[in-house]
Amino acid sequence: MKADPSDQRRLLDLAALDAELARARHRRSTLPEQTAVEDAEKTVQGHRDAVVRARTSVSDLGREVAKLEQEVTQVRTREERDRGLMDSGSVSAKQMTDLAHELDTLARRRGVLEDEQLEVMERLDAAETDLAHEQAGLEAAETALADAVERRDGAIGDLDVLEERRGAERTTLAGQLPADLVGLYDQLRARTGTGAGELVGARCGACRLEMDRSELRDITAAAPDDVVRCEQCGAIVVRTGKGAGA
Ligand SMILES: [Zn+2]
Repeated sequence: MKADPSDQRRLLDLAALDAELARARHRRSTLPEQTAVEDAEKTVQGHRDAVVRARTSVSDLGREVAKLEQEVTQVRTREERDRGLMDSGSVSAKQMTDLAHELDTLARRRGVLEDEQLEVMERLDAAETDLAHEQAGLEAAETALADAVERRDGAIGDLDVLEERRGAERTTLAGQLPADLVGLYDQLRARTGTGAGELVGARCGACRLEMDRSELRDITAAAPDDVVRCEQCGAIVVRTGKGAGA
């Protein structure tokens, strides 16, 4: 294949644009900002679970307090009834003894219940503090997630702009070059990732391998409009003068 040396040199611009576009695509698929969003999502989920657990504790303890309150009320009602009977003067001496005995038992029972109630209320208090703490933690995690999403979207937006600009430049440049040259370049690029490289010294710019003497001699001896290829990677080797005589 033959191509004007200046068109061959512009293949290097095309290769630079393609390399930049490939880097952008790679960056898009390995965005650290995306990883940060996923980490922040996990953190938020952890805090949500903690809030649910704390809320369950609060409602369980609240129910326990209410149940104890009810039991205390029942004991009190019974005590009042017994005292009323004793005060009425309408019960026998035997009944009086039984009622006094029951009142002792009820007072002890109420004491136990009230102690228990106090203890559960303290636990409820602690659970409510814990819930408030977990809710604050969740809010902070949600704010961090929103920030991470914003940074991620910003990074994607930057990549969109870059890919659009470089993509348009590439289209324009490829359109200005001979179709057969670009066709070969694209074919090689699809196969190896790099379609063209500059000859620098004895090194192919595409695969970065050093050429041996005879290959270098053949390449430098070829007519300037000959399209020459690297024996190692197959890419078009563009002679810009930096390899001459090396
Ligand atoms: Zn090469």
